[in-house]
Amino acid sequence: MSFSNIVGQDRAIRLLQSMIGKDEIDGSYLFVGPMGVGKRTLSIEFAKAINCEKKGLDACEECISCGKIKSLNHPDLFIIQKEKESSFIKIDKIRDIIYQASLKPYEARKKIFIITEAEDMNEESQNALLRILEEPRENQVFILTTSRVSGILPTVISRCKAVKFNLLSQIQIQELLIKRHGFNEGEAVLFSHMALGSHGRATAFKDKDGIRERDKMLNDFFFRKRAIFREEVCDDKKYSDLEESLQMLLFWYRDLLVAKFIEDKALFLNVDRMEEIFSYSARFSTDKLGRDISSVMNTINYVKRNINPKMALFNMALELERQ
Ligand SMILES: [Zn+2]
Repeated sequence: MSFSNIVGQDRAIRLLQSMIGKDEIDGSYLFVGPMGVGKRTLSIEFAKAINCEKKGLDACEECISCGKIKSLNHPDLFIIQKEKESSFIKIDKIRDIIYQASLKPYEARKKIFIITEAEDMNEESQNALLRILEEPRENQVFILTTSRVSGILPTVISRCKAVKFNLLSQIQIQELLIKRHGFNEGEAVLFSHMALGSHGRATAFKDKDGIRERDKMLNDFFFRKRAIFREEVCDDKKYSDLEESLQMLLFWYRDLLVAKFIEDKALFLNVDRMEEIFSYSARFSTDKLGRDISSVMNTINYVKRNINPKMALFNMALELERQ
């Protein structure tokens, strides 16, 4: 990997390279953009380029520094992220990097601290970090990434150089899935349509067997609606990620509505079921599909706030069945 292998973020890369070229690297960056578009990957590439022994605009991929950063084994590279089971990045981790930031680099030109999904720091952690960001040192760089900038304190934002990331196009994701992740063409086409511009979303979708989850949802709430009166169908524990499965149902109804107006396959998400989409789309009025979409969206909101998900599913099933 090097900058040249990152897809769809040319503007961000140009900005970073111009700073490397002028030797004007800031002490702290905030990489802002949707989930799964390459913010973490680009942080690591940036860390490599900053510390590459060849001192070019991109990592050489041959020197010891590039090798150690690539394998995430460099003593001057720190990657901080939330642990799976906790709701925040632990304050101890932040204290640890504050201590590390007080020391000189062991061997790199600049010590690099990458905090991914920085909104996972609570206010206390962000304030603790702020003290470091306010007194940047020549030999260290902080890179914070976020997909939810509203979760970052304005004081922290104001200390960082913002770098914006784009959503990727369906074709860019499709190619990435084939070249880098070994997806076969059929999977790559389908998952890239489902990805909504985020290549991370596409790979997670495959890992979590998203198509099977989608089909389960469609069977329970679209194809066999009358079965809703059976207890098991409205069991919220039946789905490994209920919110995600409801999103799938939403995409389905969205496609049915789109099919009323458009035939271009490129604009659909469930591209593996186009025949059914056109056939079912014709059976419902635009009004009915609009109401169904609202109903699923409301249910997603209830589930998000964990307000009696079982009851929410039951009510949604009743509304979907209503003509
Ligand atoms: Zn190098």
